Amino acid sequence: MRLSQMLFVTLREDPAEAEIPSHKLLVRAGYIRRVGSGVYVYLPFMWRVLQKVSQIVREEMNATGAQECLLTQLQPAELWQESGRWDTYTKAEGIMFALEDRQGRQLGLGPTHEEVITTVARDMIRSYRQLPLNLYQIQTKFRDEIRPRFGLMRGREFIMKDAYSFHVDEASLKETYHDMHDAYCNILRRSGLEFRAVDADSGAIGGSGSQEFMVLAEAGEDEVLYTDDGQYAANVEKALSLPPDAVPSQFTTFEKRETPNTPTIASLAKFLDCSPTQIVKNVLYQVTYDNGMDVLVLVNIRGDQDVNETKLFNELTQCAADYGGKAVIGLEVPDAEAQAKWATKQLPLGYIAPNLEDSYIQGSETLAPNFLRLIDKTAVDLENFITGSNESGYHVVGANWGREFEQPSRVVDVRTSMVGDRALHDPTQTLKSARGIEIGHIFQLGTKYSIAMNATYTSEQGEENPLYMGCYGVGVSRLAQAAVEQSYDKDGIIWPVAIAPYHAIVIIPNLSDVEQVRAAEAIYNELNAAGVETLLDDRNERAGVKFKDADLVGIPFRIVTGRSLKNGNVEVVKRAGHEAQEIGLTEVVAAVKGWVDEALQA
Ligand code: ATP
Ligand code: MG
Repeated sequence: MRLSQMLFVTLREDPAEAEIPSHKLLVRAGYIRRVGSGVYVYLPFMWRVLQKVSQIVREEMNATGAQECLLTQLQPAELWQESGRWDTYTKAEGIMFALEDRQGRQLGLGPTHEEVITTVARDMIRSYRQLPLNLYQIQTKFRDEIRPRFGLMRGREFIMKDAYSFHVDEASLKETYHDMHDAYCNILRRSGLEFRAVDADSGAIGGSGSQEFMVLAEAGEDEVLYTDDGQYAANVEKALSLPPDAVPSQFTTFEKRETPNTPTIASLAKFLDCSPTQIVKNVLYQVTYDNGMDVLVLVNIRGDQDVNETKLFNELTQCAADYGGKAVIGLEVPDAEAQAKWATKQLPLGYIAPNLEDSYIQGSETLAPNFLRLIDKTAVDLENFITGSNESGYHVVGANWGREFEQPSRVVDVRTSMVGDRALHDPTQTLKSARGIEIGHIFQLGTKYSIAMNATYTSEQGEENPLYMGCYGVGVSRLAQAAVEQSYDKDGIIWPVAIAPYHAIVIIPNLSDVEQVRAAEAIYNELNAAGVETLLDDRNERAGVKFKDADLVGIPFRIVTGRSLKNGNVEVVKRAGHEAQEIGLTEVVAAVKGWVDEALQA
């Protein structure tokens, strides 16, 4: 392609909307254009990158035996009502764009496709003989994200590859899950990305496995905890570890103490000159279930620990049936306004004790009259601990479970793992932290959707059983931008060869020099004929502008038909390290082709 004939506009200045390097660079180099919040046009260069990523994904999916299809973006509300997700997706999280057609029927724009694929499976899969089956698609997804940002990283319209597998049992599901894990590793490796597969939260479904594929980068929105021995890596939402040991309490008798202005753990520990590990912290939450029921939750946890809301969310989902619900649709720390709706009197905030009375709650048809009391494992074994007294300005010290306070019967693990914690698999290893960009997620769904939507098959023994399912997503557009986030320098993008929009660019420094033009045209044609995707910068611009643009756009190999021509050479520059060399006119095509082939083989 000749640059003179392309829609090619680069910007010298960073766009105001962009915060992270990859976003700035993709806009500046003319890859993407914003048309609205979280909505971007993929310009021709970007589209080539996305096609390449898609092709790698496609090859790796096909290699596992998965089959490509294309599901519908318009999805009838009834399907989502069957799975029980319509309200959560349109109201609670509000992530689904919902609309109404001319007949007044409700539809959503697909944020994901479990419902659609499960109906197809219900209609078409009859027998164990048709299993296992794995279908995938590469398609635009729509999500009304709360905070669209970082360009393609968190868009409201983005490209995803999603696959869904169906099985007779869990063993078959695990086999495919394992193959998909390997395929995902291949996709990321072939795309030239450094990544880590980490244990991920599998939500309230629990039990079954789930892993995320993280590209490590400062701009990542996720936190990954890992050990240096390579044996453990997990999203902080899911990570497990050993908390530090508690310091034995110096308060051996129970008493109430005046502790003015100590509503936080830090201020209390300072005032009493004690370790936060001796304190039982009592944290209040308000959970909303899908049947409209609200419940106030009191979590006891050791003072130096924090509640992990993902883990708490999962625990509360397990409790849903006790309140007539199925799913959690909201979880928050109730603010003053929320408290005003149910508190019968002023809560002793900052001084709450584990035995905070239920009489603080004005129960109603939609609000449980009792606290749901949960105790985190870290608080269970504490002796002679310090905690609130239910009276502002006072705490108690030397308290014990089973004596001054009844220990909640529901023991949970909702603590947040932290940097420095000892690892479970080897306590001599401590957890380290890194930022990660989630590129892919693979998930053993089990029978959640098939049971909800009644998707069954007939087994060899003639029994009607629910299908086992797995689902597997890769953010194609996010992956492409993550590659930039991982590989750039002060001059611009440095694309991995496998997903670069073009492999090479031939630059004519001086258009009025016929020698330069003739040599450049010849190399350009020969490279393309040899299968090296090559651009020709034949614009009527200064040489300096062309070099700057080539660096910004990030094409891996640059060939310049400049001064060295009189020695029968061209200058060749590798974008990654700006490493320049002169190569003979007759050898340059073979040399560049060799580098490209080598890179693509990796
Ligand atoms: P996140 O936690 O980042 O919102 P998710 O858990 O919602 O991701 P999935 O539903 O598992 O993501 O989707 C599969 C993949 O799609 C993700 O791993 C990610 O690469 C990509 N993806 C998800 N949301 C977006 C988005 N708003 N913009 C671009 N890519 C996205
Ligand atoms: Mg999301």
